[in-house]
Amino acid sequence: MKPVKEAEGELAPVRSLNPADVLDQLAQSRAEIHLLKAELSAMRQQDPITGLPNRFRLQDRLEQATQLATRGNHYAALLYITIDRFETMAQTLSFRDMDELVRQMAKRVGAPLHLGDTLASLGGDRFMILLPTVHDPFEPSRVAQSVMDALRIPFRVGSRHLHFTASIGISLFPQDGGDAITLFQHAESAARRASSEGGNRIQCTTATLSEAFLERRELESYLGEAIAAGGLKLNFQPLAAADGRLLGMEALLRWEHPLLGVVPPSKIIPLAEENRLIHPLGEWVLRTACREAAAWQALSPKPIRLAVNVSAFQMAHPQWVDLVAKVLRETRLPAFCLELELTESSLLKQGSPGAGPIHELKRLGVRISIDDFGTGYSCLSYLQRLPIDTLKIDRSFVQGLHPESLEEAASPIIQTILSLGSHLGIDVIAEGVETEAQRTALEGMGCKTFQGYLLGRPMNGEAVMNLLEDSQIVAFNELFNQR
Ligand code: C2E
Ligand code: MG
Ligand code: MG
Repeated sequence: MKPVKEAEGELAPVRSLNPADVLDQLAQSRAEIHLLKAELSAMRQQDPITGLPNRFRLQDRLEQATQLATRGNHYAALLYITIDRFETMAQTLSFRDMDELVRQMAKRVGAPLHLGDTLASLGGDRFMILLPTVHDPFEPSRVAQSVMDALRIPFRVGSRHLHFTASIGISLFPQDGGDAITLFQHAESAARRASSEGGNRIQCTTATLSEAFLERRELESYLGEAIAAGGLKLNFQPLAAADGRLLGMEALLRWEHPLLGVVPPSKIIPLAEENRLIHPLGEWVLRTACREAAAWQALSPKPIRLAVNVSAFQMAHPQWVDLVAKVLRETRLPAFCLELELTESSLLKQGSPGAGPIHELKRLGVRISIDDFGTGYSCLSYLQRLPIDTLKIDRSFVQGLHPESLEEAASPIIQTILSLGSHLGIDVIAEGVETEAQRTALEGMGCKTFQGYLLGRPMNGEAVMNLLEDSQIVAFNELFNQR
């Protein structure tokens, strides 16, 4: 039937050409071609080992998901999953075992998914999950956590049991990008960050997940729980003399939420101030810090100062001074070791507690420090009216000391603050000292006390104890004129 060349140099005879048959044949061939094309296209959109959608199919679905999310006014999430140390482990396996392992992994990664979610393979140990409809802001992190848990159970390949952990990056539509490519890139780089921080962790792209997503009320209730259930921590950052010797420590609040990640104090404090959680929070900070600092004194022949940040709302509470007195009694920390840090702006803003509590605290023997000094744009007369012990030069001034002009000690503001301190008999600490050049320049201007990454980063209580065992402590009355 086929009018094609059947033998070298000869055409097959064309016999009984029935037009109906020809049409039939043509139709059949077209259908076959169509089927082949479909198969080819499916293969192009499928991972050959796992049979899962590949990156191209995922991209289509992600585009659809972003359109749906916009119309439905919800979110869509993309999870990028890589297996930690996969390459190293894979080198010890045969190709067959490696394929088997990847298939098992795909099964585990897909287990927590629901109808409508997509699991895709990017080849080898890399997978992606698309959650097209996200209403609850924690849902992507929860799915990621289930995937991590599923992957942690040992894999059996041949006669071996293999242990793995995963690094997962999450990006969210529309917060982290308005199109598929950007979302993809963000999820991938978040996963890379998770992996470079040691792996076995989830990293969200949205640095301010809480801000972007969470109802304020939810964050408040998490914070309330954290205060009650011990979910908060304190770090301590050294205050040091010019030669690096330790004089004291500033307590800094830390909150690491299992799903939100690290929530910085700059978010916690304003939130707590708005809903009065600042009072239980401030009490917890004060009591915990004083308890730790009392233990430091026992390790050292000379007193070590503890600086605690205090919000204007705390100072304005009618029982604040009584609370400070009570905590000092309870913890047996000598009052002169405690220095309360108030920001200049909080001290002077409307509705601030005024001078009363500051004088009462002084009567207890507690020291008062002005934090972020120079940023409050204020009239300085309060320095004469209030019994201030310390001024902390804001780190923006210190970091404004440019390396090229350091020898000229280029900051008139820093010089002014130092000479103000010296005339009024107030100690001055430079905050945010990061380089030796900055420290030298500050010392040249007459600064005697420093705080910043150069002298020491914030550390946990245990690290402070270790440091104290090694350090030579300088009593601050040796360095400063006692007032
Ligand atoms: P602050 O009291 O001025 O504390 C210094 C901040 O600068 C800390 O940030 C510290 O980690 C950071 N820092 C220290 N040295 C360097 C440096 O060399 N370079 C740079 N770039 N940064 C440095 P953190 O812990 O994020 O605290 C931010 C602010 O939150 C604090 O500023 C303080 O005002 C407030 N805060 C922290 N803990 C508490 C607390 O328990 N209660 C209250 N009311 N406020 C707190
Ligand atoms: Mg401070
Ligand atoms: Mg400060």
